[in-house]
Amino acid sequence: MSDIIQLLPDSVANQIAAGEVIQRPASVVKELTENAIDAQADSITINIKDAGRTLIQVTDNGTGMSDTDARLSFERHSTSKIKTADDLFAISTMGFRGEALASIAAIAHVDLKTRQKESELGTQIVIEGSKVLSQEPASCAIGTNFSTKNLFFNVPARRKFLKSNTTEFGHIISEFQRIALANPTVEFKLYHNNSEVFILPKGNVRQRIVSLFGKRINSNLISIETDTSIIKVRGFIGKPEYARKKTGEQFFFINNRYMRSAYFNKAIINAYDQILQPDTVPSYFLYFEADPSSIDVNIHPTKTEIKFEDQQAIWQILHSAVKQSLGKNNIVPSLDFDQEQGFNIPVISKDTEVKNPQIQIDPTFNPFESKKPQIKNPKSSAISLEKENLANWNKLYDGFEKEKQEDDFSFISPENTQQTLTDSEVSEKYFHFKNKFILTPVKSGLMIIDQKRAHERILFEKFLQSLSEQSITSQKSLYPKSIELDAKDHTLLMEIKDDLKNLGFDIDDFGGNAIVINGMPADSSNQEPEQIIDKFLHEYLSGEVDAKIQAKEKIAKALAKASAISSNQKLSSEEMREMVDMLFACQNPNYSPFGKLIVSIIKTDEIDKRFN
Ligand code: ADP
Ligand code: MG
Repeated sequence: MSDIIQLLPDSVANQIAAGEVIQRPASVVKELTENAIDAQADSITINIKDAGRTLIQVTDNGTGMSDTDARLSFERHSTSKIKTADDLFAISTMGFRGEALASIAAIAHVDLKTRQKESELGTQIVIEGSKVLSQEPASCAIGTNFSTKNLFFNVPARRKFLKSNTTEFGHIISEFQRIALANPTVEFKLYHNNSEVFILPKGNVRQRIVSLFGKRINSNLISIETDTSIIKVRGFIGKPEYARKKTGEQFFFINNRYMRSAYFNKAIINAYDQILQPDTVPSYFLYFEADPSSIDVNIHPTKTEIKFEDQQAIWQILHSAVKQSLGKNNIVPSLDFDQEQGFNIPVISKDTEVKNPQIQIDPTFNPFESKKPQIKNPKSSAISLEKENLANWNKLYDGFEKEKQEDDFSFISPENTQQTLTDSEVSEKYFHFKNKFILTPVKSGLMIIDQKRAHERILFEKFLQSLSEQSITSQKSLYPKSIELDAKDHTLLMEIKDDLKNLGFDIDDFGGNAIVINGMPADSSNQEPEQIIDKFLHEYLSGEVDAKIQAKEKIAKALAKASAISSNQKLSSEEMREMVDMLFACQNPNYSPFGKLIVSIIKTDEIDKRFN
């Protein structure tokens, strides 16, 4: 039998390796921009066309490359940044593998122009799918100009796998934000389809945050600074009232590179315990500095997950630093500062057992509650709690009585409403329970309707219809209101602006990353426009990406969820009646657009059984 093992040609090996390093256009942006920073550039311009499908061009004013280095830089494992395996652990920058350029060249059309300061002429290399088509002397500026065209041209499966331009450009902006935040002293410019997305002048961290996320964030930043023997942490956290439903303003950096860490994220979220509105996440921009030998960056191919030697100690340090800063800003009011003076983390190593620093806080404090329970003597608290429970039992009946007076209730079936009763009689047949459910009797028993889900269904079907008919629904007139957004949200809203307009959501570009709201859908709940936009973006961007769902349906879903009334809004009898009528006029009144049950019936015989 003849031999069957063959060595893969380099171009194929590179294509396979490329799959690991380059997942989408945003990965190219990341690799090229980081290379520019490694080459000491202090001004970087990124030019994107069609979310990176057509063009990703990164121009820098860094060191540039010699002719030979330019050619070598496309070889696999070619890097100027490490020479021996020991370097991998010694360098203060991140795990270089010399794979990025080889990978990009394997799956795109690449055009590189580069010149070093001391050379009069630069060099230009053209490569397609790992094949060098030409290398010639060229006159060009000092630095490097790297164009990537037709990404994944020879990997159709990858190309097909790319999401919509909005999604892919969103990823690019995320990578861009990370790099821009990690390097505030570098000037950045980002253009998409020839229009300006960001112009970021050189500055400090605070200025960089503001130029990325808008002026509104400036007064909401609290600074953090902690120096310990194992880690230094500095940066900013957001005030609790600035916390939003949407994730996206949470950043950790280690030695000036972005890192992801669910573990440290927990430390921060925990420190905000009790002072956040439900379902909101605080913003943070935290810069760690640690001895490179105490971290391992090579555990993840795209180098954003990092292992620390002293994970637990760092968790505690982070947690108390955040708590302390919140306290200093009077956000955790009972923090005792006299006791805090001189608070310092002693020199500890990974073998030292770390104890939680003693900070006195009132664990029952909740700024969203007007009265806070006063439990002075912990021994007596069990007894007082028992008493409280008794009082709660009594309250249960109180509420019942009250509601009974407010909402006169006798019941009726919506199915035979029209035939048997007059209008005024009808509206008395609904009972509001816990400001959350509408109760009404039907032929077979007692029907319970979840009001929020019902409203979602009603709005969803209405929005969907308006979108397909292109009909403009009536709009609530309001004072035009401008809102500052981040670039990602702004781009998205501008792209779906026309669809939103068909829904009565009249928004316009206000320059920069701001929008102006001229009108809102007529029957959205009475929330602030900012709130609805915020929730809408959250839903739209985080909703499960289902390729089968059409864009219009996704908009209708997200907007229905954002505009629906809450699960604790009081409704008048008239409003309940309207809601039930509209619900049963829907095509699918049983389930919310998110597949949640809206209507449930307790059968009469089930009720009878209970009284057997
Ligand atoms: P790595 O960054 O891990 O070293 P890359 O494949 O990204 O590997 O780059 C290979 C080499 O090409 C780099 O080590 C560097 O010497 C050179 N290089 C890449 N981009 C630039 C640039 N913009 N300016 C100067 N040199 C660069
Ligand atoms: Mg690189």
